[in-house]
Amino acid sequence: MVEEIADNAPRSYRCNRCGHIFAIKAGSDNTCPVCGFNCDLHFCKILEASDEGY
Ligand SMILES: [Zn+2]
Repeated sequence: MVEEIADNAPRSYRCNRCGHIFAIKAGSDNTCPVCGFNCDLHFCKILEASDEGY
């Protein structure tokens, strides 16, 4: 079963190592583009975008 982010709201990981914030890609590895840390639910904090201006 493939985990999928069904919400339209974009979510981001905040890298536990360097603090860089990057968008979560469903169905793929989420490696920090800055330091290469492999983020997952256990290591990195998920930030839910609250910027809903519609
Ligand atoms: Zn990082």
